[in-house]
Amino acid sequence: MRIRIDEERCEGHGRCWETAPDLVEDDDRGRGVVRDPDAPVAPEHEAQARQAANVCPERAVILDP
Ligand code: SF4
Repeated sequence: MRIRIDEERCEGHGRCWETAPDLVEDDDRGRGVVRDPDAPVAPEHEAQARQAANVCPERAVILDP
């Protein structure tokens, strides 16, 4: 699994990086930025990734198989 954020959709609500701090950080405008977009999500962080996708009101957090 990989996690990415659609910058066009992201409105900076901050729920993703509050929910998945091991995977996502915030930029200077409060938008989510994936910490390591080229790396697969570690198995121990997959639950965080799913939660971040679920809480994003803009559906901007995308999980790729
Ligand atoms: S929760 Fe969604 S809209 Fe909010 S910062 Fe994260 S990706 Fe962007």
